[in-house]
Amino acid sequence: MLAEWEKLAREATAKNEPYEGYLLRLTEAEVTTRSANALAARIRNACFPVVKDFDTFDFTAIPSLSKQKVLELSRGEWVEQHYNCCLIGNAGTGKTHVATALGQAICRLGKRVKFVTAAGMVTQLEEAQQQHRLDRLLSQLERLDLLIIDELGYLSFSRGGAELLFQVFAERYERRSVLVTSNLAFSEWGSVFQGDRMTAALLDRLTHRCHIFEMNGESYRFRESMTDKKEKAPKKAK
Ligand code: ADP
Ligand code: MG
Repeated sequence: MLAEWEKLAREATAKNEPYEGYLLRLTEAEVTTRSANALAARIRNACFPVVKDFDTFDFTAIPSLSKQKVLELSRGEWVEQHYNCCLIGNAGTGKTHVATALGQAICRLGKRVKFVTAAGMVTQLEEAQQQHRLDRLLSQLERLDLLIIDELGYLSFSRGGAELLFQVFAERYERRSVLVTSNLAFSEWGSVFQGDRMTAALLDRLTHRCHIFEMNGESYRFRESMTDKKEKAPKKAK
């Protein structure tokens, strides 16, 4: 309002606009700026590794992924209903890209989102435990509408780390949403969580109300570097 009031007042005087109209436009400008700032803060706090959206995602590159279903998830009803989402597939198929784009869409709906790698999450939990502030971290996590855990399966955890991660999943069950990306099929999750019982209990909760997308295919990164090479090849020949 401070930035706009003089300009808008001049315009209102020039147009002989009544005071109510001026006040309305001034407050509208304030509300617009505030919600843009709040969204920017939500996206900042979510700690996305890169800011990638659906506009740069080529759904034709991964036919096994339903564009319609993914875009439906960006409308956020599943987060309202405390459903989960899993993106499972080999490396380079766009799991992190889709998770980020979905996370941002959920931020735009006014929700609190956090993006973290599985290894990063376990480190944070272990550190918090050592420093006797685990309860505080857990209650911070609980306030998030959507927790995105990326790259489950690349690194395995200690027994203690796996138990802490399990606790996070268990506390969110039917109360808050989780989005997990993994290169491992569910049948292989035992190797990360050590112990079939804990893995079974975790999968039971995670997949109970869950949208599961299989994203297996050729690595987009690999494909891109191959086309780069092909495009560069004729130039080299000159
Ligand atoms: P993953 O997490 O499955 O290993 P990423 O999401 O990191 O894969 O994707 C690897 C790179 O390829 C990223 O730069 C990503 O933006 C890009 N990428 C992957 N799939 C697509 C796609 N279908 N359309 C556009 N870019 C893609
Ligand atoms: Mg990834």
